Amino acid sequence: MKDSIINIDSDLIAIIEAINSAPAGIAFLVNSNNTFHSVFTDGDLRRMLLKEKKLSTKLSVEYHNKSSITAKEGEDIFELMNRINVKVQIIPILDDHGVLVDYFEYKHKTHFTPIAEPDLTGKELEYLVDAFSSTWISSRGAYIDKFENEFANYCETTYGVSTSNGTVAIHLALKALGIGEGDEVIIPDLTFAATINAVLHANATPVIVDIKEDDWTIDSNEIKKAISNKTKAIIPVHVYGQPCDMDIIMQLAKQHNLFVIEDCAEAHGAEFKGAKVGSFGDISTFSFFANKIITTGEGGMCVTNNDQLNQRMRILRDHGMSTTKKYWHDEVGYNYRMTNLQAAIGCAQLERISEIHQLNSGTENNYRKLINDKTLINWQNNLENKNKVTWLICGTVDKNRDKIIEELRKKGIDSRPFFFSLGDMPVYKPYLFSNKISKKIAAKGINLPVKMTEAIDEKINTIKNILKENTLN
Ligand SMILES: *Cc1c(COP(=O)(O)O)cnc(C)c1O
Repeated sequence: MKDSIINIDSDLIAIIEAINSAPAGIAFLVNSNNTFHSVFTDGDLRRMLLKEKKLSTKLSVEYHNKSSITAKEGEDIFELMNRINVKVQIIPILDDHGVLVDYFEYKHKTHFTPIAEPDLTGKELEYLVDAFSSTWISSRGAYIDKFENEFANYCETTYGVSTSNGTVAIHLALKALGIGEGDEVIIPDLTFAATINAVLHANATPVIVDIKEDDWTIDSNEIKKAISNKTKAIIPVHVYGQPCDMDIIMQLAKQHNLFVIEDCAEAHGAEFKGAKVGSFGDISTFSFFANKIITTGEGGMCVTNNDQLNQRMRILRDHGMSTTKKYWHDEVGYNYRMTNLQAAIGCAQLERISEIHQLNSGTENNYRKLINDKTLINWQNNLENKNKVTWLICGTVDKNRDKIIEELRKKGIDSRPFFFSLGDMPVYKPYLFSNKISKKIAAKGINLPVKMTEAIDEKINTIKNILKENTLN
């Protein structure tokens, strides 16, 4: 860095030399007392030369009142990252006396480990370009059919109906099943809010029930207690990749004549007693948001074995338009379609889903090996009969969860608290049936990064140390 620091009284030739030798292609100007003045980029240099300046021009003459965005020593990496944009690529770091001590340059992999990120290293771009070149960029095209068929097949189901996201997939499923005003739908307390929002948007009444301590999925005993003569459906959520007890749930549904919509947004490919999640319910829904197990950017899918439901969903997804009479509408529908561009990405993702699962579970195993101490963190359970998949790395900590998240953040490691208990939020509280265990898990749960390609052990050890500092007395 020393070579790229230059006095404001220097001339243009000196700054060209400084920029040329600087690794980042910029120079730092300092005042004669050595305090920081500003950043000088090769863009600044071009602009000065274009104003027909001579190489002997003194910088101080032209440049005295330029200022730069700077940071103080010890500032939070995330704060620095927030200040990086197209114009600000480098942030000089100054000590208390205004002397340059370092600079921050955003390098994704070194400074920041996101909780999850899409893995687009297969044929995603190739198929995307192919779809683009075909000019079928809206919701018709070869990739849509291919993705729907192949994904349904992957889920061991017959029909796939792609949607614009995972939330509307749930809404579409509810509408296709004729669920609406006056109907009750039982959902778990621990889930992403999309589950309950979709029920509310269908004008039905959600009934929020508690989860099980061991695997955090919906408690079938609580479902039993919550069933009333208004109950029409259950939405089990395979939360954090963990399959629900689908045998008991399907049995309850059969007994009480209820529909089952599996929310599989976080569990593509997970299995219960050897059968894929999504293959049990009347309709099952998936999300392909960028942080899910596989992605289409935004996107979702309903799968079913029932052709009538398949056709209902196709009509409702396309404005409720008659399939035989163009622009004739027998009912009020929606535009919930996925684009061929999204489906193209989806096809490439699906080709690699087992590879993605392996990478994710490999990372999870690494965590479990390096942090094998229940006083630090309790990892999500692997249970008999359940083949969970790794979405995010999940565990519960007995103390200081939020402080741990804060300290990880300072080290550039992204982490998340679990979803809040739905029943704890004022907007959803009116629909609460039970959430005793869920409240507890929600307050202790933490999600850690799953996609790590560099310095994995080092990062996990950093996490371990932060856990140690905050959970041990
Ligand atoms: C992500 C998610 C959804 C919604 O998916 P989007 O594609 O983001 O609309 C629904 N349910 C659960 C459990 C989710 O995690």
